[in-house]
Amino acid sequence: MNGLPARRLLLVHAHPDDESINNGVTMAKYAAEGAHVALVTCTLGEEGEVIPPGLAHLAADRDDTLGAHRVGELAAAMAELGVSDHRFLGGAGRFRDSGMMGLPQNTRPGAFWGADLDEAAAYLVEVIRELRPQVLVTYDPDGGYGHPDHIKAHQVAMRAAELAAEKAYRRDLGEPHAIAKIYWNRVPRSVVEEGFARLRAAGEQVPFPGVGSPGDVPGVVPDERITAEIGDEGDDEAGSGGSGAYVAAKAAAMRAHATQIAVDGPFFALSNDLAQPLFAREYYELVVGDPGAAAGERERDLFAGVGV
Ligand SMILES: [Zn+2]
Repeated sequence: MNGLPARRLLLVHAHPDDESINNGVTMAKYAAEGAHVALVTCTLGEEGEVIPPGLAHLAADRDDTLGAHRVGELAAAMAELGVSDHRFLGGAGRFRDSGMMGLPQNTRPGAFWGADLDEAAAYLVEVIRELRPQVLVTYDPDGGYGHPDHIKAHQVAMRAAELAAEKAYRRDLGEPHAIAKIYWNRVPRSVVEEGFARLRAAGEQVPFPGVGSPGDVPGVVPDERITAEIGDEGDDEAGSGGSGAYVAAKAAAMRAHATQIAVDGPFFALSNDLAQPLFAREYYELVVGDPGAAAGERERDLFAGVGV
């Protein structure tokens, strides 16, 4: 083996900030517990909108320097989560943010959306064969909400997992490795509805111009689809407290993505200024591998059943 910890978790995301919003608690928890946590981000998020007026000049339609700035935000977020292994697919700048679906940026040369699937996947195969993770976390086939880079990240992650295990495939990229468990990021509908009810109840105390709706949350599914749930020990089911160390780390990591996210207490907003609940617990659907919990029960550990 390569001297890495026994438990190894790999997360694949589209843009800097997606990892903190979706998996901040999970990443902080496993890093604190001594597992190897590795993040592969597929683009620099060059097409993101910029929230702080003082940084508006970074945007793609002005200086087009947002990507480099977000590399720094991601590094700061990873420091908050205690994660030291974070990489960009194919190296920083190899693939560019494709913008929202239907925009001309989708077909711009170098855009991730237009990348050859197997060529992009090969970069990830090399990471998988190096780190040999037991657990992979990525998006569902819709990318959670239809953003081209999120859809593509899903496709690349699933394809790379398949290729990494194939004995005959590219031995120059390392020894074959089969990932034991693959999860998609999910949010149970009841948790989303409860979160927005809490937001509405907070009324004028919510420090954002508007309040979003459950439709703004990616990856929402009926509760019975959820197979795993990760949170701070002692947090209540609804996760409304935000009191635990991992939730605090998640909020700090989200705050580090200052061009993209405004955080205030248990709420946050993206560039649309619509408040959303900051979820203290994170939820997953196991799509490859055997569940480590009894039928009908949720796993409380993504490594459950993998024998490490
Ligand atoms: Zn994203």
